[in-house]
Amino acid sequence: MAPSPDKVTPLRPRRPCPECGKPSARETYPFCSERCKNIDLNRWLSGSYVLPGAEEESGSDDAPPPERE
Ligand SMILES: [Zn+2]
Repeated sequence: MAPSPDKVTPLRPRRPCPECGKPSARETYPFCSERCKNIDLNRWLSGSYVLPGAEEESGSDDAPPPERE
């Protein structure tokens, strides 16, 4: 029995980007791009790291405290 030529085994099944479903890139694996990587990262951070309502923007903290009279 000869093996059917239709049967092609992929070397490595590409895992789709968990954010948009596109084929993942090597540099940003398992995501397709830096953008999706950041999206997932921010979601993860905001979900289990930052408390709701405690969002701080860097930059405003650089302002010197108001002087007391
Ligand atoms: Zn993506």
